[in-house]
Amino acid sequence: MKEIYNFSAGPAVLPKSVLLKAQSELINYRDSGMSVMELSHRSSLFEEIIQEAESLLRELMAIPDNYRVLFLQGGASLQFTMVPLNLAKDQAVGYINTGTWSEKAISEAKKIPGLDVQILASSQESNYTNIPDLSTLDVPQDLAYLHLTTNNTIEGTSIYHLPKSGAVPLVADMSSNILSTDYQVADFGLIYAGAQKNIGPAGLTVVIVRDDLVGKEKVPSAMLDYAIQAKANSLYNTPPTYAIYIAKLVFEWVKELGGVKEMERRNQEKAQLLYDYLEISALFDSPVAIADRSLNNIPFVTGQPELDKQFVSEAEAAGFENLKGHRLVGGMRASLYNAFPVEGVHALIDFMTNFEQQHG
Ligand code: PMP
Repeated sequence: MKEIYNFSAGPAVLPKSVLLKAQSELINYRDSGMSVMELSHRSSLFEEIIQEAESLLRELMAIPDNYRVLFLQGGASLQFTMVPLNLAKDQAVGYINTGTWSEKAISEAKKIPGLDVQILASSQESNYTNIPDLSTLDVPQDLAYLHLTTNNTIEGTSIYHLPKSGAVPLVADMSSNILSTDYQVADFGLIYAGAQKNIGPAGLTVVIVRDDLVGKEKVPSAMLDYAIQAKANSLYNTPPTYAIYIAKLVFEWVKELGGVKEMERRNQEKAQLLYDYLEISALFDSPVAIADRSLNNIPFVTGQPELDKQFVSEAEAAGFENLKGHRLVGGMRASLYNAFPVEGVHALIDFMTNFEQQHG
């Protein structure tokens, strides 16, 4: 089999042991004579899978009992609409704009007729290379919620210090650092994440929502209504059964390795290796403010677009896949999620060092 390192921002690398386990159970799951893909979502075998997935996620994130866990579809992008539909009607809503995904969340909220969408802080002027200072943020107490993106996948920044929002619930798009940075669920009213980075395959979206925010507003579609999804235990319609099964295997893997704290430690170690090299490199540089640098998505540039291109293509030929930066920011980006091995970071640094010797 071709050996590569996959730096994709998502869908991203999965733990090899999870893939092997899925392979071993593929044709005949628990002696049912069927694969998980062929099981009815109403069968007891699948119910066990979804319940186990939920209880593992609750354990890993220490989710308090007054929060519901929903396994939905539509990606994090559908949450850009579901959040305002479910949480706000005649109230204004607040957003912190720290990058492309925050912008998209804001733009979808603005499409909801009559909704007053307020931007309380933004780093747009600095091209999103930092997180605005949130420590002194004045959050109007009549907002329905304050939305933020905890990790900015494209720009490579993370929010390490949450704003003090008083009674206003924080809503977090945690798509690219859920289970990788150790946040306290109780600090948020709602957390959502597309699965395809730290949880499992694309097609599954996880929503963790405090009880009092479920059923808050009347929603004109059953599929978009947290209350209906919660009442049906995420089985209102056919859920993405196979993605939920793989997520369950990933949760087991995270637990075996020592949980979210251990993931965070490993991610800090991996990211630090690459950031330390970027600091001493005379060719490669990080465009991101030091205090706000992401552990999971690390953009870097040579400052010469042609050389960046050459680097990406030579890297790919050497087995370093998906290092091309997002089309909006250019350069390179190494995404180092939970399942990305530290050996791959060492190998990348060796490769970059060689490239630098030839082109620096
Ligand atoms: N938010 C963030 C922070 C993301 O990184 C992404 C996907 N890269 C999205 C939202 C959109 O997610 P999806 O493709 O699941 O809709």
